[in-house]
Amino acid sequence: MAASPKGVTVLGATGTIGVNTLDVMARHPQLYRAVALTANGNVDRLVEQCRIHRPSYAVVADPAQEGMLVAGLKAAGLETEAMSGPEALAHVASLPETDYVMAAIVGGAGLLPSLAAARAGKRVLLANKEALVMSGRIFMDQIRQSGAELLPIDSEHNAIFQCMPGDFDRGLNRVGVERILLTASGGPFRAYAASDLEAVTPEQACAHPNWVMGRKISVDSASMMNKGLELIEACWLFDTTPDKVEVVLHPQSVIHSMVSYSDGSVLAQLGNPDMRTPIAHALAWPERIASGVEPLDIVQVARLDFERPDMDRFPCLRLAYESFEAGGTATAILNAANEVAVEAFLDARIRFTDIPRVISHCLETMELGAADTLEEVLAADEAARAVAYASITAGGLDRRV
Ligand code: NAD
Ligand code: MG
Repeated sequence: MAASPKGVTVLGATGTIGVNTLDVMARHPQLYRAVALTANGNVDRLVEQCRIHRPSYAVVADPAQEGMLVAGLKAAGLETEAMSGPEALAHVASLPETDYVMAAIVGGAGLLPSLAAARAGKRVLLANKEALVMSGRIFMDQIRQSGAELLPIDSEHNAIFQCMPGDFDRGLNRVGVERILLTASGGPFRAYAASDLEAVTPEQACAHPNWVMGRKISVDSASMMNKGLELIEACWLFDTTPDKVEVVLHPQSVIHSMVSYSDGSVLAQLGNPDMRTPIAHALAWPERIASGVEPLDIVQVARLDFERPDMDRFPCLRLAYESFEAGGTATAILNAANEVAVEAFLDARIRFTDIPRVISHCLETMELGAADTLEEVLAADEAARAVAYASITAGGLDRRV
């Protein structure tokens, strides 16, 4: 008898990763079934997704929108149960009928539901890198304690996972891994002079040359904070240190990252830049399923280029290295300050080059503490958001006042 389909909760179903996840799942209805879909505010899209994927539960983050969701589901003739609020997000990440949780909420808002999935022992498909940046030790401990499976969705980390030996959790030294080569496209401003970065607009920052992504991660890619967050993510996922992770610019985004071994071998994972590949890999692992991604035409690609990153033009990458080295709450502060600064940049309140200024200000003026408990992490997150807001409004950066 065929096994019954795996139940999947998609946190952040209406976002770029969420939509791609549902696309892959819909290609394999015999393998995957949507148990719950969640969204922040886009109720219309969420109802439309429920109409197509028929989950048992639909959740909106904002309780004020639950009425709209109930009405939308009823009008569509669906039996999907509506819920709202942060507890409901954590609840649908831990349901007994959920086997896999796609953690694809953007930013710190994803921390508690992603952690709930880890605690409940699910297969966690982790796109929400900010959760690991904020609370790496706590998150990894939860995964180990509950026996959950953690599969990286970030294309680089998924590539690294694919290039690692199956028993890499014995320790990278023991399995002969010397270095991780973390590739970066360099974003839309890779070739810009430092002086030209002052005047770039949110629209330019969101026009990524190779990937289609949500607005926050697009700005992070343009500032290279995305690579900084990914460096920290790699250190937690693969239990290593920043000196073993080398960031390499690779503008074609065809190699998604590499692993270098003690015998001189370097293994790489290649593919077209389409998030459905890592999503399909993590859903099906250790098997393989079709993802809808076009096969890579390597002759068409023709050449692969590599350069070293410039941390003077892109100081966010340096700030990420430094905050991981500093340890404790530093990476939670880095993440929170970055979220506030990116939002202010997207609202045209600060310049692109003010983003690292806001983050440095927080890291330099705030006291660092231990990040051993969730309370410590959440307190650092909240305090850093307040300091970052204040530095924008009172620090003379806000262009609207
Ligand atoms: P997105 O902005 O397109 O989607 C974000 C999703 O989170 C939406 O469903 C939104 O409704 C939900 N959301 C936003 N704020 C929320 C809140 N306060 N409470 C509850 N839900 C909320 O973002 P995305 O590009 O899909 O990225 C999602 C995550 O995946 C991010 O952490 C990002 O860094 C990571 N990621 C994305 C890509 C990519 O190619 N898009 C690649 C690697 C990693
Ligand atoms: Mg990535």
